[in-house]
Amino acid sequence: MRYVSTRGGSPPVAFSDAVAAGLAPDGGLFVPESLPDLSAELEGFARLDYPELCSRFLERFATDIPQPELRELVGRSYAAFDRPEIAPLLELSPEVHVLELFHGPTLAFKDIALQLLGNLYARQCAVRKETINVLGATSGDTGAAAIHGLMGRPGVAIFILYPDGRVSPLQERQMACTGDPNVHALAVSGSFDQAQAVLKQLFADGDFRRRNRLSAVNSINIARILAQSVYYLHAWLRLSPEHRRSAVFVVPTGNFGNVLAGWMLQKMGVPIRGFRVATNRNDILHRLFTTGEYRVGEVSPSLAPSMDIQVASNFERFLYYSLGRDPDRVRAVMGEIGAKGVYRFQDFDRDTFTSSRCEDTEIQGIIRQVHRAHGYILDPHTACAFKGMDYSGPSVVLATASPAKFPEVIRAAIGIEPTHPTLEALKSKPLVRHKIVADAAAIRAFIETRAV
Ligand SMILES: *Cc1c(COP(=O)(O)O)cnc(C)c1O
Repeated sequence: MRYVSTRGGSPPVAFSDAVAAGLAPDGGLFVPESLPDLSAELEGFARLDYPELCSRFLERFATDIPQPELRELVGRSYAAFDRPEIAPLLELSPEVHVLELFHGPTLAFKDIALQLLGNLYARQCAVRKETINVLGATSGDTGAAAIHGLMGRPGVAIFILYPDGRVSPLQERQMACTGDPNVHALAVSGSFDQAQAVLKQLFADGDFRRRNRLSAVNSINIARILAQSVYYLHAWLRLSPEHRRSAVFVVPTGNFGNVLAGWMLQKMGVPIRGFRVATNRNDILHRLFTTGEYRVGEVSPSLAPSMDIQVASNFERFLYYSLGRDPDRVRAVMGEIGAKGVYRFQDFDRDTFTSSRCEDTEIQGIIRQVHRAHGYILDPHTACAFKGMDYSGPSVVLATASPAKFPEVIRAAIGIEPTHPTLEALKSKPLVRHKIVADAAAIRAFIETRAV
């Protein structure tokens, strides 16, 4: 299997090269050259546990990695999860299932992809006999999940920039209390946008980038999408025959990576009924799916911060498939969005997608209501997915974070503060962070002295 760019301007590459590059050289996103048809194999898949299913699924995509090695790598990636099912599926009521995706080391769904990606990076370093320095800016979850995916891997150092004082204390501890000498948590004075601007400057400095073999952490890596398709398949296989036909997957959505993974699986012949894209007040995707218009807006901070986005970075893959895999049309539309900030769809998969929008003022009420009805505690992101649940049919709600990551919101809603042993343990560990100004020269100098 080879990987092509959504913009058609880069030669096809092998899986490992697409993973190592992240973004395609022509600025597009990598997609598999073709999607396999899994429909004849679903019965055989039904008996496999999570790591086995993941290996069998990825074998079709990671064709340049020997199968025994891939299996071993997948096994290691999910060994640190605190539930044997990896992604347990619970029944809240006969109609409502919850797919818990937060049993990895940082208690959010990004671990599922980033634990695997960390091992893929480390393998690539070993094969090429090179080291890499991974650099990213975060406003919370991604940084922590990336650090925990990469730490302790030989030949890899990681530098994460975050706005000082603007990530939650728990998130900061997840990044800065690892005790790993190759993990560098940089508390940048300034906003997330300023940290991101510095990062761009550093990546634009070709000499510096090559000398330090810099690699970016972001949500567009094709390995992340494929790793996420697996939990949709694992959950779908565990539904009753009736619900396999009728259940809709409800997905708390920001960058569109999570729901895209499910949609691509549907394109591989898994007959999933549909997806509901659940947004918070930052509702660019809800507006798209209700009006057909994709219009870039202003971000406003919410109680579900990991969904606070204004440009969904995985949207380009959705465009690619929606425009009949025609890279010329993708280039034209991306150009139009860049220039005008808006694009009107003529046609997209309307049978498959519905959407909802949840106001901040509704989040605590939903948490309270679900707790009262089912004794189950939702985190603020997952709460957004319960908007409008009363009148929808059978569903599988993706729970993207543990409520223990958001103790203040939960306490305000139900008077209980959820805890988790992993987070409690962090409180007694020394915090090692580096306060630094939002200045490219200062951060360049820091990286230069600590790079591997
Ligand atoms: C990242 C994140 C999301 C959004 O996922 P996308 O793939 O960006 O759509 C939702 N919930 C939580 C808790 C997250 O960390």
